[in-house]
Amino acid sequence: MKILLLGSGGREHALAWKMTQSTLCEQLFIAPGNAGTAQHGQNVDIAVSDFKKIKAFCLENAITLVVPGSEEPLVKGIYDFFQQDEALKHIPVMGPSAYAAQLEGSKAFAKQFMSRHNIPTAAYREFDESTYEEGVAYLRQHATPIVLKADGLAAGKGVVILEDREAAVTEFTQMIREAKFGDASKKVVVEQFLSGIELSVFVLTDGKSYQLLPSAKDYKRIGEGDTGLNTGGMGAVSPVPFADKAFMDQVIEQVVKPTVDGLAKENIAYNGFIFFGLIKVDGAPFVIEYNCRMGDPETEVVMPRLQNDLLELFQSVIDGKLSAQKVYEDSRVATTVMLVAGGYPEAYEKGKVITNIPAQTQDQLVFQAGTKASGGDILTNGGRVLTITSLASDLGIALSHSRQTAESIDFEGKYYRRDIGFEFV
Ligand code: ATP
Repeated sequence: MKILLLGSGGREHALAWKMTQSTLCEQLFIAPGNAGTAQHGQNVDIAVSDFKKIKAFCLENAITLVVPGSEEPLVKGIYDFFQQDEALKHIPVMGPSAYAAQLEGSKAFAKQFMSRHNIPTAAYREFDESTYEEGVAYLRQHATPIVLKADGLAAGKGVVILEDREAAVTEFTQMIREAKFGDASKKVVVEQFLSGIELSVFVLTDGKSYQLLPSAKDYKRIGEGDTGLNTGGMGAVSPVPFADKAFMDQVIEQVVKPTVDGLAKENIAYNGFIFFGLIKVDGAPFVIEYNCRMGDPETEVVMPRLQNDLLELFQSVIDGKLSAQKVYEDSRVATTVMLVAGGYPEAYEKGKVITNIPAQTQDQLVFQAGTKASGGDILTNGGRVLTITSLASDLGIALSHSRQTAESIDFEGKYYRRDIGFEFV
């Protein structure tokens, strides 16, 4: 296969690392990539949503598979762009159509899909300008806390949880009437608050069958003890200690199967990853969100634990033969700890020299995110800079290895959470 991978995060570094272990990988290009992906293939200076340039590149380089890492090109319709172009339609895109990507791109779409297929999720109502007054009245009698969600993509900031009904009315008004999140908040989903513990479950699907990948739990807050602002993710562990067999059986029966069967029943083409953002409430799973791609940094613990050849799995998706596959998980646990630039997720500086990045070993991998190579140096080039994945027989050992390496890698302003996985050790 001649592959074009789209993205520039730690997730894409992990995917590049994994795909190039396959004998099916003839050549890998990453657009735009980072200093880490450049170790596994050739970075190409094309933005993930510049479909025109992507097309030209694919044709010039006889690309045979496109793998979008993030939701942006999927929600913008890269799958459909390839399908509808005579010159490109022979090139499979490992991701859903724009219609199916609304599972991530529109919270109202996802909630309606779940309600059609009896998939457990928080009770909800959706409102827009035409039902604004009704929404205000609904909020004034709603149980607190109240969960308000901008319908569209809002860079992980479109969910607001409020204790106070009047504050919820103000937020609701800003979302709908003052375009607080632009077009994304023209429609608002008001949801019942669920109290429980969150985890992520991933499958690869060809739209008819699915294969379950290792589960993971990520840590979104910047501060230790899950405090402070939300980030893209500060670390992750896999597997999830509380996702035992009884719980995962429920996830499969109540969430995964009805989702994949629902896609098939509704004739929704879906090739690629489905990420189920779940919450365990009194022992039972509820869906908080769907994503139409892998998570970051969850990919950095899931891919190292996946023992299968990823490109063989992708080929089975392309051939519609995924049901014939079986997924094998490494019995070791994996942890990853993200090093970020000082100030992140607010203002931060770029261009700091990174030193002491260790070589890859059997049980430790460094996946780069916001980095770039410059004159022999590797420089910081984003808020999340790199993540250190450790594999060990025990979570405590893996975490202490990730932490030791996090300590030894150096760049000005470096920050990381020392307590990833804290509730499990
Ligand atoms: P992401 O940044 O992960 O893409 P998002 O902006 O798409 O997030 P959600 O995942 O729907 O939004 O919600 C973000 C977070 O808000 C969840 O991880 C969860 O902690 C919290 N949350 C969302 N819905 C609920 C709910 N109904 N009850 C309690 N907490 C919730």
